[in-house]
Amino acid sequence: MAEDLRERLRRVRRNMAAAEREFGRAAGGVKLLAVSKTRSAAEVLSLARLGQLDFGENYLQEAEDKIRQLQDHGLTWHFIGPIQSNKTRRIARCFHWVHSLDRARIAARLDAARPPELPPLNVCIQVNVDAAPGKSGVSPQEAAALAEQLSALPRLRLRGLMTLPAPAGDFAAQRQPFMTLRRLQERLAERGCPLDTLSMGTTGDMRAAIAEGATMVRIGVALFGPRDGQPPHA
Ligand SMILES: *Cc1c(COP(=O)(O)O)cnc(C)c1O
Repeated sequence: MAEDLRERLRRVRRNMAAAEREFGRAAGGVKLLAVSKTRSAAEVLSLARLGQLDFGENYLQEAEDKIRQLQDHGLTWHFIGPIQSNKTRRIARCFHWVHSLDRARIAARLDAARPPELPPLNVCIQVNVDAAPGKSGVSPQEAAALAEQLSALPRLRLRGLMTLPAPAGDFAAQRQPFMTLRRLQERLAERGCPLDTLSMGTTGDMRAAIAEGATMVRIGVALFGPRDGQPPHA
């Protein structure tokens, strides 16, 4: 297992570096977030021993168990799944980042629940760039208003924007939603809201995301292998 992980981690890092070069990005400018949903604490620890320290989780209960087991390893935990309002207190206590914020009411609850002894919780606004009905995320038009509401919450630190577009066939089509997110970041900066993070790109579209300015890619399958019986981005 550790050997497979080592080889896959090497390959992902190599592909990231190649995309950085290809698209004129600074070397090392893109951070790798290992998406460890459905993976065991032992697998996470194996990756951690290879120097991978940022992990993304979608399901709170499962994540809490791993976070508890691995608490002495200096890992940074990112919550990337849909947020139910009755889970905000626990999320605010055990995560360093939340990428999937899309409602002011959830933001207020996370802010109120962030323990005073911890630094502010880093957050990204999830944007539904396809405007697909029923998907998580605010519309691009709603993002500025939510960003403004977040600025009033002292226990949250707004870092950036996140998106998870529907899978697209070719590279040019994959770039479109990521370009939309980058342009939204630029518009927010012009309005006095500079953000340092664009969380975009998964196993299937990482290169397109890096081409469009991703600063964090969220990679599961390419690191850990296929997820048995799981929908791709549940
Ligand atoms: C599962 C998931 C990923 C990782 O997707 P892979 O195809 O496994 O690379 C990234 N982001 C979110 C929000 C996810 O749910």
